[in-house]
Amino acid sequence: MHQQPTASHFIDGQYIDDTAGDAFDVVYPATGEVIARLHAATPAIINRALDAARRAQTDWAAMTGTERGRVLRRAADIMRDRNHDLSVLETYDTGKPYQETSVADATSGADALEYFGGLAGSLTGEHIQLGQDFVYSRREALGVCVGIGAWNYPTQIACWKGAPALACGNAMVFKPSESTPLSALKVAEILFEAGAPAGIFNVVQGLGAVGASLVTDPRVNKVSLTGSVPTGRKVYAAAAEGMKHVTMELGGKSPLVIFDDADLENAVSGAILGNFYSSGQVCSNGTRVFVQKGIKDAFLNRLSERLKGVILGDPQDPKTNFGPMVSQNQRDIVEGYIAKGISEGAHVSFGGKRVDKAGFFIEPTVFSDVTDDMTIAREEIFGPVMSVLDFDTEEEVLLRANDTQFGLAAGVFTADLARAHRMAAGFEAGTCYINTYNLAPVEAPFGGMKMSGVGRENSKAAIEHYSQLKGVYVAMTDVEASF
Ligand code: NDP
Repeated sequence: MHQQPTASHFIDGQYIDDTAGDAFDVVYPATGEVIARLHAATPAIINRALDAARRAQTDWAAMTGTERGRVLRRAADIMRDRNHDLSVLETYDTGKPYQETSVADATSGADALEYFGGLAGSLTGEHIQLGQDFVYSRREALGVCVGIGAWNYPTQIACWKGAPALACGNAMVFKPSESTPLSALKVAEILFEAGAPAGIFNVVQGLGAVGASLVTDPRVNKVSLTGSVPTGRKVYAAAAEGMKHVTMELGGKSPLVIFDDADLENAVSGAILGNFYSSGQVCSNGTRVFVQKGIKDAFLNRLSERLKGVILGDPQDPKTNFGPMVSQNQRDIVEGYIAKGISEGAHVSFGGKRVDKAGFFIEPTVFSDVTDDMTIAREEIFGPVMSVLDFDTEEEVLLRANDTQFGLAAGVFTADLARAHRMAAGFEAGTCYINTYNLAPVEAPFGGMKMSGVGRENSKAAIEHYSQLKGVYVAMTDVEASF
């Protein structure tokens, strides 16, 4: 396997450690074994990372976009060349099956590096003619950006934040989740190898306190967080104190609506992808599955048959298609929700139990006869728990689908295209799907409405969130003053 990260942090072009920081273990979720021991960043480490970023950023922003883009595209190529090793590492970091990580993590990170690398050379301001005078706008970098990541897609999150930030001429200090600290270090190493100047992309480790001290530091101009709504609230408030730009990619409880006329097999596939991929640890999951009454029985029967295809086991085995929860803590949270679903009267139609083996496995679980007011239909579980609800009419289901504080994603399966577009227009969600679910190509905007977030990642829209416009008024004639 390609070299593992060799120290806790990557700062100013090199791996460094400071054993004065609190030690924490990295646990392989499939076995519970400790696979690495890292140290949280001390104030000295945080200082070093922010100083390095600040120092490097000016020269990086002064390069042409094409030059910056070349570095990002080179990094994308290296990531693709090392996809196997990076996927093995991601599987150790997260417990997600290699069958997934080999097609969804370093590869999607590489897509982001390639896409924003391609855009970097075409970033422009505009020219506004005002008679003989004119204004031109310059699209400028923000400065130093802080990225803070969740544990479900550590490589992808580092790249979704790092690629647009660097394309626009910013430097980044990235803090991964303390549950999955390894992969972002490889992203930093690869960017440096691809030619990113020392200090342009740094990784520091630690828990929430390290994130909090980054967010409040006056050297930081922007904060981009992927995490839960409660953390988002805190980070947004702390950033507001210093008037910093933010992107908040937060949680969801997204609706997936299946009408009677939908292609049943595709609808079942969509519900599986939207609930059990990454063992349900995906923010945009469609965990409230509304099935129209005419096909509810057929849907549940076919779903149970298809779930017999789950191969739960060693995530490094390419045949395994279902892995453990990321941590014991997350498994406990999910078990608590399953118990709550049962006690509130929902019916377990598949799974529902902890798996009797080492590691943090829980069976893929389907609740039927769920009602809108049940806890499992209102709160984000972040585990393999699908709630199936039923409905009669389009008007009714749209109201119920939108009756949530969240607004990350929503999906509809139907053969009636006019209805599909009406539903997409009516959903209060930032990312909608018609006859599919949970695809997140880098070309498309991704992000939430309502409590699910602020700003958008990916697509050309991300450029707006990592740059700022300066207007320059140019006078071509004499200045007229009143006295
Ligand atoms: P958390 O909100 O617990 O943590 C997110 C990150 O923020 C972690 O790195 C965490 O550090 C850090 N953090 C915690 N407190 C603070 C603070 N006060 N200041 C700064 N940083 C802080 O989320 P999870 O890691 O548990 O991830 C799961 C959540 O992420 C789910 O709610 C999910 O929906 C959401 N998510 C959203 C996505 C999206 O794009 N919308 C994508 C993926 C996940 P540490 O954990 O090390 O203490």
